Amino acid sequence: MQLPKTLIEGHSRFLRDRHAPERGRYLQLAELGQAPTAMVIACCDARVDVSAIFDAEPGALFIVRNVANLVPPYEPEGKYHGTSAAVEYAALTLKVPHIILLGHSHCGGVDTYRRGLRGKPPEHGFIGSWLALLDDLKLVESDVFAYGDELAFEFAAVRSSLANLRTFPFIKKRVEEGLLVLHGLHFDLASGTLLRLEEDTQRFVPLMET
Ligand SMILES: [Zn+2]
Repeated sequence: MQLPKTLIEGHSRFLRDRHAPERGRYLQLAELGQAPTAMVIACCDARVDVSAIFDAEPGALFIVRNVANLVPPYEPEGKYHGTSAAVEYAALTLKVPHIILLGHSHCGGVDTYRRGLRGKPPEHGFIGSWLALLDDLKLVESDVFAYGDELAFEFAAVRSSLANLRTFPFIKKRVEEGLLVLHGLHFDLASGTLLRLEEDTQRFVPLMET
């Protein structure tokens, strides 16, 4: 079975136009290892291209993507915590100074939950169990009023995952020691712009001044 032609051609362009001109950078990354500026927790959604959004170079971002960009609470007894393992590696081994929770508009995962999974047996076992992380979601009334139900859910999911991140003892400790800063962002697909979660007001405001 061949890979899709578009991917083979794309890889050829990558080798020619990106890897070859930046051979030095790639060699350095291979020899010295990674020292990313930030960890980004984003959605699997094919439209959320994290490196493109931040125009980030190879090696700059340590990215974990999962359905609806969620972080589970700290559960040391759990066996297969892929996202928690990535958080642990980023914080304790790579010692990243920033962790960014990146939500996005038109999120299929959040929308599936919003449209009726709540309180019902999950149609798909894995997705249902995963989205149950949203069961305790607290919608902010002013979000619903200003942005509508869909965005209010996406915003609340970012706030909830940030709260779950703080339940990891090593995250809490590094934040308290001033070694780590947690950020909440929301990406709008249509405009390409980012909103950031203001820590003191817990409101989403534009990242860029207009
Ligand atoms: Zn999504």
